[in-house]
Amino acid sequence: MIRVDGTMGEGGGQVLRSTLSLSLLTGKAVRLTRIRAGRERPGLGFQHRMAVEAAARIGGARVEGVRVGSQELGFEPGPVVPGEYHFDIGTAGSVGLVLQTVLLPLALAQRASTVTVTGGTHVPSSPCFHYLDWHWRILMARLGVDFQLEMPFAGFYPPGGGELRARIPGACNVVPAAWVDRGHLLRVRGLSAVALLPEGIAERQCNRALKGLRHLDCPVEITVESMPARSPGTVLALLAEFEHTQACFFALGARGKRAERVADEAVQDLVAFLATGAAVDRWAADQLLLPLAFASGASVLRTAEVTRHLLTQAQLIPMFVPVRITVDGALGEPGTVRVVPGATAKGG
Ligand code: ATP
Repeated sequence: MIRVDGTMGEGGGQVLRSTLSLSLLTGKAVRLTRIRAGRERPGLGFQHRMAVEAAARIGGARVEGVRVGSQELGFEPGPVVPGEYHFDIGTAGSVGLVLQTVLLPLALAQRASTVTVTGGTHVPSSPCFHYLDWHWRILMARLGVDFQLEMPFAGFYPPGGGELRARIPGACNVVPAAWVDRGHLLRVRGLSAVALLPEGIAERQCNRALKGLRHLDCPVEITVESMPARSPGTVLALLAEFEHTQACFFALGARGKRAERVADEAVQDLVAFLATGAAVDRWAADQLLLPLAFASGASVLRTAEVTRHLLTQAQLIPMFVPVRITVDGALGEPGTVRVVPGATAKGG
C-alpha cells in the first residue's frame, strides 16, 4: 500500500491522476489523503471523480471515497482490461485529463481499446483537443505510444457536452527521447476555430495572429474553421514545427473577451517559447514524465520552464517505480530533465 499526501508539490488534480495511472501501471494499491486540500473547492471535482471512476473501470479496482468533495481515496487495482469504454464527466470538466489518466495503462496492455470521454474539450488550465491531437499524440508516438484521436463534438465551459475519442492499439513499447536541441524553426501551423458562433470571430483571431507572427522567418499558415459542437466557444491553436521537435500553444475565447486578445495570448506564449531556445514546452514536460519512466532507456529533455507540475511528477513517480528523475534549473526558468528508468535516486 502506497500512501500519497494530496498536498505534495503542486497539490492539485495532477497528484491524483498520476497516482491513479501509476497504481494501474504497477498494480500497487494506494491511499490518497488531503486530495486538493488547499484548493478553493477541496477534494474531488467532477473531472477528478470521473478520472477515479475511469481508472477503476479499466483496472477493475476496489475503491473507497469516490464522491465529489472527497479528500480521501482508497484504490486497489486489478489487472488492466483493454476494451471499449465511455466516460461521461457530466460537466465541462476536461476530457483530455481523464483520457490522460488511463491512456498509458491501456497503451501498454496487450489488446486494443477505444475510449470515449464526454465533457469539455476546450477548457482553461488543461490541454485542449488540438493540443492533444497535434502535439501530445505526436510526441507520444515518437516515444512508441501510438493512438488516434477524434473529436466528434467540441465542448466548452460551462455546459461542456464535447466528445473525445481515442483508439489505442495497445502492445506499445516505450522508447527513450533526447529532446535537447530543437533545430531551426521550419513552420508554424495554426487553427482559428469557432463553435456555434459566427465565423467572423475566427477570422479576426486568425488575422491578428498572422500579424503578430509576421516577423518570423518561416511560413505561417492558419486555417479558419467552424467546429461541430454542443456549446459555444472559440480557440486559437498554434503549432511550431522545428527540425527536431515541436511545441504547441493555444488560447480560448470567453464571454466579453475580444477575439484579438485570444490571438495575442497564443502568440505571446509561442513568442516567449521561441526566446527560450528550449526543445519542449512547459506543459508537455510534465505530461511526458510518466511514459518516460517506463521507457527502455534514459531520456533527456530541455524544457522551457521548470514548473511545479513538473517537480511534482518528478517527486511522485519514483514513489511507485524504480527511476531516477533529476530536474536541473530553477522554478520558473528553463531547465533540463533527466529520466533514468531502473535506477534509484542514489544512483543504483
Ligand atoms: P486543480 O484544479 O487542482 O489545479 P486540475 O485537475 O485542474 O487540478 P492540474 O493538476 O492543474 O489540473 O493539472 C493540469 C494539467 O493540464 C497539467 O498536466 C498541465 O500540463 C496541463 N495543462 C494546463 N494548461 C495547459 C495548456 N495551456 N496546454 C497544455 N496543457 C496544459
